[in-house]
Amino acid sequence: MTWRSDILQGLKADPNVSVLILGGGVNGVGLLRELALQGVDCLLVDKADFVAGASSKSSRMIHGGLRYLEHRELRLVRESLFERNRLLENAAHYVSPERTTIPLFSWLGGFLRSALIFTGFPVRPGSRGALPVKVGLWFYDFVTRKNRRTPTHYFTSREGSLRTIPGLNPAIVATATYWDAKITQAERLCIELIHDARRADPRCRAINYVRPVRLDGGAVVLADEAGGETVAVRPTVVVNATGAWVDKTNAALGLQTRYMGGTKGSHLVLDCPELHDAVGDRMVYYQHADGRVCIVFTFMGRVIMGSTDIRVGDPDAAECDDAEIEYMMTTLRGVFPNVRIPRGKILFTFCGVRPLPAEDKEVLANVSRGHAIEVIEAAPERPFPLYCLIGGKWTTFRAFAEQAADRLLPRLGVARRSATGGVPIGGGKDFPAAPGQRNEWIRGAARASGLAGDRVAVLLERYGTAAEAYARKVGAGGEHPLRSLPSYAVEEVGYILETEYVEHLADLVYRRSVIGLLGDARPEVLRELAAVAGRVLGWDAAREEQEVRLAAPPPIGSASSLTGSPLPLRERG
Ligand SMILES: Cc1cc2nc3c(=O)[nH]c(=O)nc-3n(C[C@H](O)[C@H](O)[C@H](O)COP(=O)(O)OP(=O)(O)OC[C@H]3O[C@@H](n4cnc5c(N)ncnc54)[C@H](O)[C@@H]3O)c2cc1C
Repeated sequence: MTWRSDILQGLKADPNVSVLILGGGVNGVGLLRELALQGVDCLLVDKADFVAGASSKSSRMIHGGLRYLEHRELRLVRESLFERNRLLENAAHYVSPERTTIPLFSWLGGFLRSALIFTGFPVRPGSRGALPVKVGLWFYDFVTRKNRRTPTHYFTSREGSLRTIPGLNPAIVATATYWDAKITQAERLCIELIHDARRADPRCRAINYVRPVRLDGGAVVLADEAGGETVAVRPTVVVNATGAWVDKTNAALGLQTRYMGGTKGSHLVLDCPELHDAVGDRMVYYQHADGRVCIVFTFMGRVIMGSTDIRVGDPDAAECDDAEIEYMMTTLRGVFPNVRIPRGKILFTFCGVRPLPAEDKEVLANVSRGHAIEVIEAAPERPFPLYCLIGGKWTTFRAFAEQAADRLLPRLGVARRSATGGVPIGGGKDFPAAPGQRNEWIRGAARASGLAGDRVAVLLERYGTAAEAYARKVGAGGEHPLRSLPSYAVEEVGYILETEYVEHLADLVYRRSVIGLLGDARPEVLRELAAVAGRVLGWDAAREEQEVRLAAPPPIGSASSLTGSPLPLRERG
């Protein structure tokens, strides 16, 4: 029996579950772990793959949110900075400090605008000069003064900035540099949260490609899109953590709501050594005159550029289109005027929808990034209350989960057992962050497994300390590099397929690894990965062929959110 049929058969035998969580983005899986650690049995379902929504499409900043200060969201910035520091500690295998530089084109520009926004006027944000940025960065440093995990900010003169970052637009007057953090493998951290939840309480289950389709006699009918069957579950409480899809999901449960007002954001992954060298080991953060924020940063040998804040109606239809690509190229030229990026340098694009609360604000950058919980009480035809998680940031998922659990636990009659603020996640447990500790760890794991030290170092970076279990399993001489992508081993891929809830090839390529993100999902790589998956998961040749087709990266400038969508039923094997 596979893990999927195990879960589905178990639910048929006993449909009762304390909490049914709909949606396996970071907020859903964060809540799953939070409740598992309190001893609450949960079932989490996602209509697509886990982390297929906004949580795999973010800019990967684990940050306070400098510009939210303008909107008097001091509590949110404070909470975000605390959560950032916790993730630096608890997920040190994937989250690390990120130096961030803001090019400044005036000294006082935007001060009046910032002051008006701060006092609540609906003014469109624009680029900011040195003074408003200074005030914001001072607050940033002040908030974390007692738990400082990153250096404090500094300003650099025009001459100094052009010396350090020679490609910058010479029209700058100075630059401001501060530290936030970035997450490399956001998708893997979510899978690790599921593993941790299952370890904490094996009654907690998570299943992808399953969605609620209707209510039937007070039960929620779930459809398994992979196997085609349905199963009815009887939850005490339901949590709708489906992000931008919250209202659509409520509709399936017979409820008309208008909580969400999503905005899309797009990213380009570039193979552009010229821009890579110009940006260096930092993130450059700039705001266009229209108020939209853009970023560019180096990532595992590539460069990622992103922009955000375009209103979308249907989250399933969001895509990184030509207009978005052109916009990002144009805004980049304002910061690095001499860097030329031919279209062929774009390896991959992705687009996601930020689950913002519905607000009638004309300026989307002004909509709050805070989070809230809307409760819809039980009704005769729906004998369970529905808790809808609205908004939020990747950075604050743990705090959001903690707050949601604190609302749910009294309702379930369960007392909180433990706090999660200091609990490491997955391969972040006992992670050797300091260089000396790291070398010692690598030497120890190499000795124990027989793998070469260089290879153990790669595995440590990819999986944190969870690498040790795999290294011991394969042992010396047990690995065979993929022909098409030798930095991955056949056995490594097999291990992921066996242990990480992979249903489709795209899950492996885009959400259990960074193969797709880095633009490495070439036809020969997909074919070789499909052959490995075929052996491990029992696919026949036709299914392998079909999976290769479905996992192909979308053409640049068209429907790039394809890999985040559930696969059409007619295309399943
Ligand atoms: C472009 C962009 C950049 C961002 N950058 C940052 C950043 O740098 N830092 C930061 O902190 N935050 C950032 N964010 C915000 C952050 O990504 C989101 O707030 C966060 O990922 C939301 O997580 P979620 O779990 O609520 O939603 P999602 O990740 O969207 O998860 C919702 C899940 O629900 C599933 N689902 C949908 N309908 C159903 C259904 N009917 N039944 C079951 N499952 C369903 C979907 O498949 C999906 O997996 C960014 C967002 C975007 C879009």
